[in-house]
Amino acid sequence: MSEKKSIFTWYLSINLLLKITIAITAGSIVGILLIILGVDTKLYIQIFQPLGDVLIRLLKMIVIPVVSLSLIVGAASLAPSKLSSIGIKILVIYFITNAAAVFLGLLSANIFKPGLGMNLVSDIAAVSTSAPPQSITQVFLNIIPTNPIESLVRGDILPIIFFSFIFGVSLAILVEKKVKGAKVLLEALEGAVETIYIIVSGVMQYAPIGVFALISIVFALHGPKVLGPLLFVIVVCYITYIVQLFLVFGGLLAANKLSVSVFFKKTTQALITAFVTRTSSGTLPVSMDSMEKLGVPRAISSFTLPLGATINMNGTSIYLGVCAMFVGYATNTPLTIEQQIVTVVTASLAAIGTAGIPGAGAIMLLLVFETIGLKLTEGSAIATAYAMILGIDTILDMGRTCLNVGGDMVCTAIIAKSEQELDEKAWELE
Ligand code: ASP
Repeated sequence: MSEKKSIFTWYLSINLLLKITIAITAGSIVGILLIILGVDTKLYIQIFQPLGDVLIRLLKMIVIPVVSLSLIVGAASLAPSKLSSIGIKILVIYFITNAAAVFLGLLSANIFKPGLGMNLVSDIAAVSTSAPPQSITQVFLNIIPTNPIESLVRGDILPIIFFSFIFGVSLAILVEKKVKGAKVLLEALEGAVETIYIIVSGVMQYAPIGVFALISIVFALHGPKVLGPLLFVIVVCYITYIVQLFLVFGGLLAANKLSVSVFFKKTTQALITAFVTRTSSGTLPVSMDSMEKLGVPRAISSFTLPLGATINMNGTSIYLGVCAMFVGYATNTPLTIEQQIVTVVTASLAAIGTAGIPGAGAIMLLLVFETIGLKLTEGSAIATAYAMILGIDTILDMGRTCLNVGGDMVCTAIIAKSEQELDEKAWELE
């Protein structure tokens, strides 16, 4: 018993980031070894997938309480004038950085021309089992919940943000008027938020195990598939993700006199979580925690991050641009300038409507195809190209989710600074 206890204490005493890094490295090596040794991956996945699923389920378990409770408490503790200025600023910065992402995606696809020379003509049909994309009007209408409890139960982030925000602001008014019970309610909610954050840190201690399982499975499953032209699509997407992350976001941080290295140091956990879980929404508890380490008040991050996880998808925008171009090149119908302009607009809007869950961007790609007139009929070359993209979607999704989350965090830090709410001591190098 005491031995068990000491192993547990020893495990807890190791730096979390180190544990996650070891898990990623070990997971990649094991995944590659499985392929090289020709081991039956089916059995391996059967055993290890549940370990990865535990991490994803634990994160999902705390997303809704974190988002709703922190937003209520956050909105209740900010002055109304501050709230509207933060709201406007964050929407503007999300919009601009997202536009930069779509532009960069198309630019690099024009430079690298992924898919060129593939001359695809085949009869493999694209199969997608997910729900069809929603119209943009519906996306906006759905922000207003017809039943907030139902939204909470279903985990619909935007309606939850909408309702929690209104609830928080209303609670603030009552607290200010000293209405009986209001302060008690606010204090109780503050206590609940603290409790949830304790759970978050507990969940993160499990993360290395889940990360190991998820990464080894990705390698075991996708290792051989990514050779050839698809590897090139992956490389083009990742180069662009990296340019957006370091050049655009690094530049934005530097322009705001915020240290890029401190940013990455304190957000590594969130970035890795996004990378392996492929869900921005699921990463929220961790990204909110990272923002706290960077001295951003919860009042701000509890509003901007859930919003960003839902509407600000820089990685997804890049992916949509590059993949639309790939399909054009691969099927010998390169996108015209007009089609590329329509892609910019559609990809920006599609990214807003993309849910922060694994694989959602691949569905939005269909919306982009539709608007630029690429007909995805069964057996067509377009369908073949799309099927190929779906085959490597996991790998593309890891990077784009990481960038999606990174973008939300950079914009949040900048807004906090512009509101003079950032604790800049947290940005000093230790
Ligand atoms: N998985 C992405 C996210 O959660 C969305 C996407 O598939 O593009 O941010």
